[in-house]
Amino acid sequence: MPISGTYDASGSDESVSRLVRILACPRCRAPLEFRDRIFCTDANCAYSIRGFPIIAGTPALIDFDRSIICEDQLVAAKGGSDINRAPSFRDRMRALVLGSNAIAARNCERFLAAIREVKPNPRVLIVGGGLEGSGTEALYQAHDLNVVGTDIYAARQVAIIADGHHLPFADGAFEGVWIQAVLEHVLEPGEVVAEIHRVLGANGIVYAETPFMQQVHERAYDFTRFSRSGHRWLFRQFEEIAAGEIGGPGQSLVWSLRYFFRALTKSDRAGTLLALPFFWLRYFDRWADSRYAGDAANAVYFLGRRAEKPLAPYDMIAYYPGPR
Ligand SMILES: [Zn+2]
Repeated sequence: MPISGTYDASGSDESVSRLVRILACPRCRAPLEFRDRIFCTDANCAYSIRGFPIIAGTPALIDFDRSIICEDQLVAAKGGSDINRAPSFRDRMRALVLGSNAIAARNCERFLAAIREVKPNPRVLIVGGGLEGSGTEALYQAHDLNVVGTDIYAARQVAIIADGHHLPFADGAFEGVWIQAVLEHVLEPGEVVAEIHRVLGANGIVYAETPFMQQVHERAYDFTRFSRSGHRWLFRQFEEIAAGEIGGPGQSLVWSLRYFFRALTKSDRAGTLLALPFFWLRYFDRWADSRYAGDAANAVYFLGRRAEKPLAPYDMIAYYPGPR
């Protein structure tokens, strides 16, 4: 549920008071105190004096000393994103070239079924929820969920501005975590996944979608990629419910063509327009064998349940889902 306006921690709004109860200092995890700014209640923590800002009605609970997000820039931009995220002509053309994500919509239904088994009225954390992800309509429309949206900038669906490396929530606060097209944009994906494990309660469910054969797409905020096996190892603290690929070699080829033309023309827009006549290449993915296609997947997904015992390194060789 999006929360905006003045942050009243006294709890006049039930959804706000429920949220405040699970918040914790992103530096030391002590409870927080709401005044004109938000302060850590542990006197030994730097944020008990420095505090965290409330920007355009949204708390920014980021440990700025350990984040790529700069407090002064965030306040100056009134919580806005450093890069323009409004759908542009280029985005609409890109959607036409690259198609929509039907697999995410199917996986979203599986995610919802799994978290409802953990607990009725489950609480769901969305990491990177500034833009509603492709295929997430069912998540935002469900009336029985407590959805807490986070991102590194303020937006309609963002309740808390947060950095995934140091989540400002108490241990075990959530039954589900949804993280779609985010882990390529963080400096330390392993730290973010450890935080997801920490804020999930027993048997909590995670769903992640992460690019594999995609080119750099958010300029300075794009750091890494994962194969199916690499993604499985990243989520080694979780038991796999389902995993697979989103988009095969055909879709990856369209991406490559777009960046091939982009480099020649030095233009994002021209790259997309010149790749447009090749959009049909992605239709070949429906005939591709998934064992082979996964090695050239455009992106990979993982749906898993929080486990106490991690996978061992030697489990990884048997895990490889491709051809032997
Ligand atoms: Zn603290």
